[in-house]
Amino acid sequence: MKITAIDSFVLTIPNPRPIALEFPHHKLVVAEISTDEAIRGLGYSLVFGGGGAESVQAYLETRLKPVLIGEDPLYVERLWERMFRTDRGIRKQGVAGYAVSALDIGLWDVAGKAANLPLHKLWGAYSDRIPAYGSGGWPKYSESDLIAEAEKYAAMGCRYYKMKIHDPSARANRKRVKAVKKALGADVRMMVDVNQRLDVLGNLRQAALLEDLDLVWYEEPVLADDLAACAEVAHAIRIPVATGENNYTRYEFRDLLERRAARYLMPDVCRANGFSETLRIGHLAAAHQVAVSPHVVHELSLHVVGALANGFLVEFIDWTPPDLFEEMPRCEDGHFLIRNRPGHGMALARGAVEKYRTS
Ligand SMILES: [Mg+2]
Repeated sequence: MKITAIDSFVLTIPNPRPIALEFPHHKLVVAEISTDEAIRGLGYSLVFGGGGAESVQAYLETRLKPVLIGEDPLYVERLWERMFRTDRGIRKQGVAGYAVSALDIGLWDVAGKAANLPLHKLWGAYSDRIPAYGSGGWPKYSESDLIAEAEKYAAMGCRYYKMKIHDPSARANRKRVKAVKKALGADVRMMVDVNQRLDVLGNLRQAALLEDLDLVWYEEPVLADDLAACAEVAHAIRIPVATGENNYTRYEFRDLLERRAARYLMPDVCRANGFSETLRIGHLAAAHQVAVSPHVVHELSLHVVGALANGFLVEFIDWTPPDLFEEMPRCEDGHFLIRNRPGHGMALARGAVEKYRTS
């Protein structure tokens, strides 16, 4: 099999309210891979909030696409290495990491279709029923928005809900978390997300005020670049730390693991250099008794969690309009069933490109 063409473009997807209070839209950088055997692979990276998506597409189009054209798409490992080693002066983090990810996801989609297997089974499945947590709790929500969202996910059967704690006042954050916890009752456990906004001391103060609330995890306490500070927080607080959505490659995750900087790792398949690298990160985490709960894009991440014995939850943010994908996996009883479709199983809806394409 040979790759004959790769078409890339950016889709801009308006967010529903109230998510739009925080981010008016998200963007997808899409790469459609064509082959000489009538198999087509869909790769995409979700650029949350949209910033930099056009740069991701430019890097993919000008530097990575030429590496893949004419090659056998089933040699995913070799093609991943070639993409990763393209432009040694540009590390595959940030913009370049998203670009490698979109193509790696597309290559695996081709491989799954060629094998006629869903990806989790191609990788040696562990489970096809993946628990999800409802995620949101954006800082501009009123307390009633917040509770309404949490209850919406609980009504879908989700046993976990995650909210942001972005108020400058640690006590105000505690008050919001307690209000949601009270509304949800004992059957739903909660996580909180700092989104890199505090320093070490600020986290120690904040976490101390939340320790009695039986939280599953305390997420991304410090700037994602500062692995030492994350480790310091993880060692000092009594809530397990989760991090990784803004970390890249097995090397950075190895450092997090060796520092014992988190009990849960959250690689993003659209950032961390695709399915290939996320699986490597997952296996590395298993050697350190650390669970993996990938960041967003649950429709893709399901396959990763479904292939790992140390997979935990997928992050469910209900934001996609019904005319973007042919069919999103449905959340039933708090779980997603991985459908028996070859590849990752996602396809753009008819008309979606015409409607949402912006470059
Ligand atoms: Mg987060």
